[in-house]
Amino acid sequence: MTPGSIDLHLHSTASDGRLDPASLMRHACDCGVAVAALTDHDTTSGLEAAASEAAALGMSFVPGVEISSEWRGRTIHVLGLAIDPAAPGLVAGLEGLRAERGRRAQEIASRLDAAGAPGTEALQRVLTLAELPTRTHFARALAELGAARSLAEAFERYLGRGRPAAVRSRWPAVTEAVGWIRAAGGVPVLAHPLRYMLSGGARRDLCREFREAGGLAMEVVCGGASRAQVAQAESLAARTGLAGSVGSDFHDPRVPWNPPGRLAKLPGAVPAVWSIPAFPISLPDFR
Ligand code: AMP
Ligand code: MN
Ligand code: MN
Ligand code: MN
Repeated sequence: MTPGSIDLHLHSTASDGRLDPASLMRHACDCGVAVAALTDHDTTSGLEAAASEAAALGMSFVPGVEISSEWRGRTIHVLGLAIDPAAPGLVAGLEGLRAERGRRAQEIASRLDAAGAPGTEALQRVLTLAELPTRTHFARALAELGAARSLAEAFERYLGRGRPAAVRSRWPAVTEAVGWIRAAGGVPVLAHPLRYMLSGGARRDLCREFREAGGLAMEVVCGGASRAQVAQAESLAARTGLAGSVGSDFHDPRVPWNPPGRLAKLPGAVPAVWSIPAFPISLPDFR
């Protein structure tokens, strides 16, 4: 019998995923995942439904969130794993983030209009269809409205860094997000650390400041990562004193190359985040 895999980074329709929380858990289970974390952007609204479906399927469930934050002017994602979603500081912090997302969606729409893209129509779709507005929803709307051929093209033409509808978002500092997570009894994990456009030195500074603020781990194995990228992340974690996590960042079953749980093994040089003493849920060793 295969023991099943672990995936600590998954999105549902509570943010920009395609599957509702219960369907996501069923899909993850079908893909062989035995331990799953739901980590939607800036919301915990899917956790209850996901937890009960996971329990019905006999899976282990880790309640999580992926918080948008800022460091040296860049957007950085901080995962909170095994959080208490009712913790007041976290609840208040996430409410502020969602208010900022609402403001930002209006600005994205006007910038799209100014760039000659159907921003107002896209916004209308986003606000009707999305539980929480993200750039992913704008990209889908632009593709549906014929302004881009694909999600990737919508980001390349309009929504990505340096493009006309890339608005300056006012996210909280990384250290603040880490504080909310720790106060909620959770474990802060720096998401996809190699995805940020940073020099090697700046990336190490980010990891060290994250750890000094109370951060405990970083993602060492990400969806679609090459062996070389896993090795690079492993050495970054080892050098900066962070434990390692594994997560696909799954959003959409129509993206066939990144299903839940299809991830390399966490390499040996770093402790697994789920086996450090601060991790409040007891899980089997998945290595
Ligand atoms: P937001 O948090 O609203 O800025 O949206 C960020 C989300 O957009 C990420 O979590 C990804 O899911 C998605 N995203 C970012 N860049 C791209 C891209 N180039 N292609 C497809 N999706 C992207
Ligand atoms: Mn996303
Ligand atoms: Mn992310
Ligand atoms: Mn994510």
